[in-house]
Amino acid sequence: MSSEHLMFPDALLRQLLEDSGCVIYSHDIEPPYTIRYAGGSTQAVLGLRPDQLIGRPVSHVVNMGDWLANRTYAGNGALISDARARHFSGSTSWVRCHSRVLDDDGVGRMVGIAVVIDELKLRELELAKRVREDALTGLLSRESFLEEARQTLDRVPERTALGIMDLDGFKRINDTLGHPFGDAVLQEVGVRVAALCNDQLKMARLGGDEFGLLVEADEAQAAPIIDAVAKVVGDEMEIGGVHVRTRGSIGWTMGAPGLTTPELMRQADVAMYEAKRNRLGRQRYSPNGDRPGKESLDRVARLARSLERELIMWFQPLVDLDSGKVVAVEALARWGHPERGVRSPAEFLPLIDQGGLRTRFDLWALEAVAEASDLCAPSGERIRLAMNISVDGLRSPQFLPRVRQLRQEGVFVADQFTIELSEKDLAEDLARLAPTLHELRALGVGLSLDDFGTGHSSLIRLRQLPFTEVKIDRSFVAGIVLDHTDHTIVRTTVDLGSSLGLTVVAEGVENMDIAEMLADMRCHIGQGFRFAMPAPLDSLVRDGHVIRRPLDSVPQVRADVPDELLTRLREVLG
Ligand SMILES: [Mg+2]
Repeated sequence: MSSEHLMFPDALLRQLLEDSGCVIYSHDIEPPYTIRYAGGSTQAVLGLRPDQLIGRPVSHVVNMGDWLANRTYAGNGALISDARARHFSGSTSWVRCHSRVLDDDGVGRMVGIAVVIDELKLRELELAKRVREDALTGLLSRESFLEEARQTLDRVPERTALGIMDLDGFKRINDTLGHPFGDAVLQEVGVRVAALCNDQLKMARLGGDEFGLLVEADEAQAAPIIDAVAKVVGDEMEIGGVHVRTRGSIGWTMGAPGLTTPELMRQADVAMYEAKRNRLGRQRYSPNGDRPGKESLDRVARLARSLERELIMWFQPLVDLDSGKVVAVEALARWGHPERGVRSPAEFLPLIDQGGLRTRFDLWALEAVAEASDLCAPSGERIRLAMNISVDGLRSPQFLPRVRQLRQEGVFVADQFTIELSEKDLAEDLARLAPTLHELRALGVGLSLDDFGTGHSSLIRLRQLPFTEVKIDRSFVAGIVLDHTDHTIVRTTVDLGSSLGLTVVAEGVENMDIAEMLADMRCHIGQGFRFAMPAPLDSLVRDGHVIRRPLDSVPQVRADVPDELLTRLREVLG
């Protein structure tokens, strides 16, 4: 076909652009970014004819703050920028400008096309709001609380009081009256403390029945404010005709120059346990109370003794939503506790972190995953292995060389091994991680952005990094059938992820309705109880989810818990 057949007549192209709702433009490279050409749907988008735009600065129609703040350079030389555009009538809409430099006359101009993205932007903003707020109580989320605390501590260290409140007897309420009732109690606490919040007091739900208090005041002023919080929480509440009373145990501490937010959180936590233990209600942190609780020492001691025997790797199948076939398994560590049964990472990872052992744990996990490299789908096709890793583990000097070695030995095969990085952990060090991520990708290792929606990143921003997959957090997936917002958030992520060439995985696929809806959205892969629970390999094989190839076809790896991990734990114990 000759190139003429592919060309549009000018008039047709103009008409198409007008129909499309896009604006095409050219402007100077330097401020004030004078507009030199405008065309397309300028009337619809901006309420102005092209000749009313030419010769004006871009700021005439575009919010420059947005425009300059939201710029992303795509790898191929294109510049993408989201900004609010003003319509002549006064209304605004979000546009995404795709621009390039045109330098055919030696002057240099930006040329581009602007597309209205109101719907997409609304969903992005809704998502961002969710990250800011705790969904149940409307108080600040843990992440935004820590950010607020950090800023306050930076600004006025000696006027930063930080507290942690835990509800006494909440577990009993939850167990006896049920989770919905427990949630209603948390909401009621949220309403009561929100009424006290102002410029001086900020409150967050940190998770479960734990709340955070941030007071901008000196010690003398902070104490009565904290008392007031305890007072409203302790008043009797009536929920659905049932009268209950709970009490908040609050531990708190004061900032000082040189102290960090994690240290303040730790101090508040120590004080909170002190308050709980002694039934004090409120307890200001004092260094005397600051020795590791016996309980926590016992737990660390037990963990150290038992790691060798009891740390186990389970696997959960991931299923192609189109074909219904198992295409991958995610490795999920468990602790087989002799008395309390199988415990999830939420319970033991904090201990591992506390002992500074996360990197060693990650390296153990890598070996445990390598042990499963003989897995196939029931159809006989190879399936992909996925593992979670912390940013510290990824950055450790041993991780990358070991992966390289496992690739060379044929234990891992290109594109059949994926590491999952939680979006929450990625916030800071993107630039420092980039070389490692690129190197892993060059080895054929897949890179998955895990728990997507729980952090602050946007897919558009992350696309400089070589991610191959995005996993939508279960908290959004669970609601897609009944909750309109969850539905749109998931759909947007599927659309955007696919358009960026990522494999899109939905976590938390609990039932058939969710699975079908995800398939309708063209989400690629699902993971959840609907398909299979995490389980030891043997039982996945027994249940027919996966099969193991003959042993001699795969190099063997053994994942003993490393001595240094045990040694280090003993050191932690003193
Ligand atoms: Mg994961």
